[in-house]
Amino acid sequence: MNKRDYYEVLGVNKNATLNEIKSAFRKLAKLYHPDVSKEPYAAEKFKEAQEAYAILSDEGKRKQYDQFGHNAFSGNGGAQGFDFSNFDFSDIFGDIFGSSGFGDFFSGGRTSTGNRARKGRDSLMEMRLTFEEAVFGTKKTIKLNVSENCDDCRGRGGHDEKTCPTCHGSGQVTAEQRTILGSFMTKTTCSTCQGKGVTYEKRCNTCRGTGKKVESKTIEVKIPAGVDNGNQLRIPGKGEAGINGGPNGDVYLEFVVEKHPLFERNGNDIYMELPITITDAVLGTKIDVPTLTGNVKLTIPAGSETNDKHRLKGKGIEDVNYHNKGDMYVILKVVVPNKLTKEQKKLFESLRKTDLEDGDQFKKVRKYLK
Ligand SMILES: [Zn+2]
Ligand SMILES: [Zn+2]
Repeated sequence: MNKRDYYEVLGVNKNATLNEIKSAFRKLAKLYHPDVSKEPYAAEKFKEAQEAYAILSDEGKRKQYDQFGHNAFSGNGGAQGFDFSNFDFSDIFGDIFGSSGFGDFFSGGRTSTGNRARKGRDSLMEMRLTFEEAVFGTKKTIKLNVSENCDDCRGRGGHDEKTCPTCHGSGQVTAEQRTILGSFMTKTTCSTCQGKGVTYEKRCNTCRGTGKKVESKTIEVKIPAGVDNGNQLRIPGKGEAGINGGPNGDVYLEFVVEKHPLFERNGNDIYMELPITITDAVLGTKIDVPTLTGNVKLTIPAGSETNDKHRLKGKGIEDVNYHNKGDMYVILKVVVPNKLTKEQKKLFESLRKTDLEDGDQFKKVRKYLK
């Protein structure tokens, strides 16, 4: 089955703001939540909306999706799509149902602050590349402060686990809230155990109870040839530490590519302006032209004009995914000289006496002269 476009699922356009995405998802969640909805296929539609929201509400994932579509998350060729089981929907569901006591519907009886092991957050890092590094690929060493689960307590923060005496293991405390509309039962995260449902007899000394250790790591990253501005590279497992002993998130490197003094990139094609003298434009010539891979001799035909475009096939950039090569385009700019020697001036004067008028426009203009 073909997956529907995430924007289509939420009914927003490609430029939708985060707020628009949130409110679109909120509407769908209210309509299709399987515990409350009577709509046909509610469960499927709810799941579809959850997935779309998980991607589009995350700046990094949204960028990847915009770039690669569903392929960005399909893993080893599977059509599974993005695994959003660890995604924290609590803020949005809290908005919808939290204050009216429906909060528990969304996570099987326990909110996301529970004791379950979850993957850490992904993080986004900017990496500057020169034009050539982006075109040809390179290796870079980066330093990351990687936060990992403490070895001694496996990320728990303590030893000798026991059920939290305050919340009796639920991770939440219930309080009655009186308002002008009546009284509501509200649930909040237990402050004794921070929602874990368990406390520890002994605090872990190694991590001082945080459950984490931060290590500065130097890693070498291979940047593939052909990356462009805004492309992202995923470095698995080097993001924020997991929660309750879960695996680390990932780091996404986003490339910022410096401009080249001569070449301008458009996709995998390269554009370059080539100045030529009026005499070369008139008489034609052969000129050495720099390309990414050395000089190429370009034939300028007689009668060339500014903005004439010459294509050098395959002299562009290798595609980062498919490895086919783009082209290079040389755009001619005929340069009229501002300073002439006496000798040159004389030559031009004698040229003027000849008939250089080419094309009908000269005649047309003359015809309208009063
Ligand atoms: Zn507790
Ligand atoms: Zn520890």
